[in-house]
Amino acid sequence: MTARKNWDTYFMDIAYMAATRSQCNRRRVGAVLVKGKKLLGTAYNGAPMGVPDCTEAGCMLVEEYEVHITEDGTEQMNRKQRCIRTIHAEQNLLLFTDRDDREGSVVYVTDQPCWTCANMLANSGVIEIVYHRGYPKDSDKVTNLMSMRGIKFRQITAYEPPVGTVMDVTN
Ligand SMILES: [Zn+2]
Ligand SMILES: [Zn+2]
Repeated sequence: MTARKNWDTYFMDIAYMAATRSQCNRRRVGAVLVKGKKLLGTAYNGAPMGVPDCTEAGCMLVEEYEVHITEDGTEQMNRKQRCIRTIHAEQNLLLFTDRDDREGSVVYVTDQPCWTCANMLANSGVIEIVYHRGYPKDSDKVTNLMSMRGIKFRQITAYEPPVGTVMDVTN
């Protein structure tokens, strides 16, 4: 018999299952709301209801430049594309859960939240955020924000998502 799954693994698995519902081919993110080991909601990134999604209408891409400091201290501009068609998983999770439920709850999310989602989560009543894949672009400022708000913010590392739930993402 295999060992019983711990709670982190259990809820992160569910977040990865939710992510498989996403129709964005560039990034599939899932999130779940948990309170006292009870599942209160699941969400993934997607277009608003009734609006064509990325598989129907294609991703809606914007280009951005990011300043990257290389190891020898030189500045480098990286051109990046990202899809803005979807409401992020964390935002959908907040749209579909109640404020009262969220007070004192924990969010499990497949990917480290972006700056916008982090701000919304910081004001949402949740007391802990657990993520798996890092998102280096916003990592420092998001980590700082969570510590200012006193929200536990942690990455689970020794973790393998369920087979078939992860697709290659384009950055
Ligand atoms: Zn997309
Ligand atoms: Zn986000």
